[in-house]
Amino acid sequence: MKTEAPRKRKATRVVFDGIGVSGGIAIGPAYVLDGGIAQVPEFTVEPEALEAEVERFQAALAKARGQIRKLRRKAEALPKSVLDELGPLLDAHGAMLDSSRLGAGVEAMIRNRGTNAEAAVQSVVGDLARGLEAVGDAYLASRGQDVRDVGDRILRHLTATPYHAFSMLPPGSIVVAEELSPADTALMDPTQVAGFATALGGADSHTAIMARSMGIPAVLGVPALSSRVRSGVRLIVDGEAGRIVVDPDADTLAEYRRKAEARKRLERQLARLRAQPAVTTDGVRIVLQANLELPRDLDTAHHGGAEGVGLLRTEFLFMNRPDLPSEDEQYATLRQVVESMQGRPVTIRTLDVGGEKLATALGERIAVSANPALGLRAIRLALKEPKLLEAQLAAILRAGAHGPVRILLPMISSVSQVRAVRVILARVVNRLKRRKVRIADPIPPLGSMIEVPGAALTADGLARECDFLAVGTNDLTMYTLAIDRGDEQVADLYNPLHPAVLRLIQFTVEAAMRNEIPVSVCGEIAGDPRYAPLLVGLGVRELSMAGTALPRVKQRIRRLAVGPATQRARAIMDQTDEGRIAALLDDFNEGL
Ligand code: PEP
Ligand code: MG
Repeated sequence: MKTEAPRKRKATRVVFDGIGVSGGIAIGPAYVLDGGIAQVPEFTVEPEALEAEVERFQAALAKARGQIRKLRRKAEALPKSVLDELGPLLDAHGAMLDSSRLGAGVEAMIRNRGTNAEAAVQSVVGDLARGLEAVGDAYLASRGQDVRDVGDRILRHLTATPYHAFSMLPPGSIVVAEELSPADTALMDPTQVAGFATALGGADSHTAIMARSMGIPAVLGVPALSSRVRSGVRLIVDGEAGRIVVDPDADTLAEYRRKAEARKRLERQLARLRAQPAVTTDGVRIVLQANLELPRDLDTAHHGGAEGVGLLRTEFLFMNRPDLPSEDEQYATLRQVVESMQGRPVTIRTLDVGGEKLATALGERIAVSANPALGLRAIRLALKEPKLLEAQLAAILRAGAHGPVRILLPMISSVSQVRAVRVILARVVNRLKRRKVRIADPIPPLGSMIEVPGAALTADGLARECDFLAVGTNDLTMYTLAIDRGDEQVADLYNPLHPAVLRLIQFTVEAAMRNEIPVSVCGEIAGDPRYAPLLVGLGVRELSMAGTALPRVKQRIRRLAVGPATQRARAIMDQTDEGRIAALLDDFNEGL
């Protein structure tokens, strides 16, 4: 008897476009994160803290509402069939967040029983959902799941902790989520997660930066993705083009496999540049350093031939934990990084939390703010909580006994902040010396990030007060143009080539040169070869970037000459139109 071969399933191939934030191509099974919270803290709130606890709940509720509104607006741009499916669901979630049974129920539990907000949400949501599910009607039962989803959304904001167990993923998975925080992303293992895609998030968000530093292809700002993709279906993530292909057909798959292979070949070629110096064709040496998000980025930094660490973001030390790291713990980690760099300098930035970068243990010290990006963050928090800063400075000074370090201060907006840190630094040095603890000798250079327009405009004063400057173009662009770097809705307006941003960079570089102190650029533009001629033409001689970006930037530097780059930078600085600036820059790059 002839048995019929199983008929091949026809691929449904759907393409979504978003913001490509981390290059490369990933092909693998989707893993859709459901957003469940593993464990909810339970404790009793003291009577005098009850109102603050209610406020904490209200703030989380407001954030959840804001998120739903944002998703609803994004959904409007979707094809009608998707909107018909997604719109009512989001509306239902919005209505549940507004429901007095939920809000009043939780508030009453906090006030009357002293239950903490998380436990109260879990209890009220559980009661509501069970009530719906008990009726025995399929429609109401599915509304019960909606109530639980809404509860999870509030809990996620309340706990501010990542809860995604990436270790459970099958290797080679592509993570699909509504949103991933930088702390979530830090938990990803690049050997396990091949790529990721989210509905929310912009090109220079910290989640995007984290993806680039780990070399994980990623596309953000893809609306409705998690509701359109099932776990297990094959996905292609094209991080360069910002494209997601769901269930690709054989031709598409073959095309992307060829692209992925070509990229690997290019990377192998670039790897040969590792030992070559970054020197222009007319002999000017440019120092290329690495930005580190996590100590494990050291591998790519070494691989890319980093001449030092131009920016060590210390936020990782505070992420994914309920308590603060001790001075000893910070020292042990920093020392490992310093030793791994074998005599090459390590620039350690003090804690830059606040805004989108929240550390759970510090959550209580940062009150809810209408504008977190303008609120108590970075150096402002450090100067308000000197014990925190002292522990960090002590850890850095001690790590500095094992190799050269520099201390970098985030979000500086005035010289008085640098002076205040110098006083605290002197106090810490004296304390450690009295105790005969081994520390850096001489005391490490102290520098400022220039990432606030006010700092750039007073860069001359800061240059006199500091030993070096580092231009953070991610925040500088955001604050100059008043555009949230992490918001996909305004991602098209976020442009470091805006003449206002370029003038602030130029002003800073010239102030540093006049004061004869080093200045580097460590924002994301430093890692994009397109910007290299412009930055070099403006006088920048130090660039710091994701380790994965080092080879491509080095290749571009080795093709350009400072003379013509300077001329082109001058021509660019005469322009007022971003489009013209981009054209002049792209034209110069094409000729290299
Ligand atoms: C910047 O703002 O450009 C910067 C380098 O700092 P971060 O991206 O960590 O805010
Ligand atoms: Mg910054």
